Amino acid sequence: MNIEQLDKAFVLPTYARNYTNFVRGVGSTLYDDSNQEYIDFASGIGVNSVGHGNEALALALSEQAKKIIHISNLQVIEPQAKLAQKIVELSGYDMALFFANSGAEANEGAIKIARKYGETKFDNKRYKVITLEHSFHGRTITTVKATGQESFHTPNFSPYPDGFSYEKSIEDVYKAIDDETVAVLIELVQGEGGVEPFAKEEIQKLATHLKSKDILLIVDEVQTGVYRTGEFLASNLYEISPDIITLAKGLGGGVPIGVVMTSHKDILSAGDHGSTFGGNYLSTTAGLSVLDTLSNLYESGKLQEMMLYFESKLQEIATDYKHLFSKEVGLGLMRGLRAKDSDILGKILTNSMNERLIILKAGRNTVRFLPSLTISKEEIDEGFKRFEKALSLV
Ligand SMILES: *Cc1c(COP(=O)(O)O)cnc(C)c1O
Repeated sequence: MNIEQLDKAFVLPTYARNYTNFVRGVGSTLYDDSNQEYIDFASGIGVNSVGHGNEALALALSEQAKKIIHISNLQVIEPQAKLAQKIVELSGYDMALFFANSGAEANEGAIKIARKYGETKFDNKRYKVITLEHSFHGRTITTVKATGQESFHTPNFSPYPDGFSYEKSIEDVYKAIDDETVAVLIELVQGEGGVEPFAKEEIQKLATHLKSKDILLIVDEVQTGVYRTGEFLASNLYEISPDIITLAKGLGGGVPIGVVMTSHKDILSAGDHGSTFGGNYLSTTAGLSVLDTLSNLYESGKLQEMMLYFESKLQEIATDYKHLFSKEVGLGLMRGLRAKDSDILGKILTNSMNERLIILKAGRNTVRFLPSLTISKEEIDEGFKRFEKALSLV
C-alpha cells in the first residue's frame, strides 16, 4: 500500500487531509517525496516557530536523547526547572507554572486552577467560566465545551461539563458575570475564529474590572504566545497582568509541550494535578533551545523587522486585490486576509497549494498566515510571489 492507502486504512478519518508527503524542510521551505519545494506560511499551525530542520534544536534534542529522555515527575527534572525559570523571566510576571503536553491540556489545567480557586477562596462555590463566541480552546470534553462555537458541542459527545457560557463581545461579558462566575477565558487574538485582535483598551478595561471583582482572567496564549504577536506574550503587548496564562504551539518548535502559568501559586498542592509526560527532558530541552533562538531574534530587532516586512507585503496585496478581500487582520506573524466570501477562500486555498505555497484558513472566510518566526526575507518574497499567482487565477 502507498502512504495514502495506509493512512486511510489504519488512521481514523478525523482530518480532511492533504496527501502531499513531506519528507524534509529547511527554514520555511519544505520538500515533498519528489523533491518539489514548497514555501511554508503555516508552520504546522504556528508550531514550527524556529522553522524546519533547525540545527540548534536538532542538536539539543539529539544530545539530550542520548543522555535521558524521560524519568517521570516523581524526580526533579533539570531542563524543566530551567525552562520554567526562563518562561517566567521572559513573561515579566510573578508566576509559577505546570507543564502539560498540548494546548487543550494546558487549558484543562487553567480551568482546574480556576475551579479550585472558586471552591476554596469564597463563601459560596464559584465555578462558572465565561468564554467568547468564535473562540477555540481545545478538543477535550471540557475544552471543547469551553470553545464558543456551537458546532463543536454536538450531542455525539454529550453530556458536557457544566459551567461554561459564551458571549458575543467583551462588552457582553460584564452583563454575564454573576456571583458564581470564577473566571473569564479569552484569546487576545482569536486564532481559529478569524485572526481578529481585540482592542487593547477594551481588554485593559475588562482586566481591571475582573480584578476588582476577584474574578480570574485566563488568557489562552496557546497560539498568540512565544513571540507570535511580537512580544513574548500577547499579554505583554496588551499590557495586562492575567491571573492565568496558557502556552503550547510555538514553545517546543514541534515537540509537544503545554504550559499553564499562574500568579496564584498557592492554589494547587501535591496530588491536585499531574501528567506522566508533561515537562520531560525531551520537550523542555526543546523549549529551552526554541526560547534561546527566539529571544535572541527578538533582542536583535530582526523579529520585528520581519514582522513589519511581512505586514507590508500583506497590505500591498489587500490593496491590489480589493475585489477578493475586505480587510487585512492580525498582529505580528499571526495574520489574515478576510476574503469576500467562503467560495473565494476555497479557491485561494486550492490555488495556493497548486503554486506550492502552504497557507491556512480561519473561521469561515479568512486566509490565515502563521509563518515560522525565523522566516527570511527571501522566503517571504517567494511566498507572496506564489500567493499573487494563486490570486490571479481565482
Ligand atoms: C491550537 C489551540 C488550542 C488547542 O491546542 P492543542 O495543542 O491542539 O490541544 C487551544 N487554544 C488555542 C487558542 C489554540 O490556538
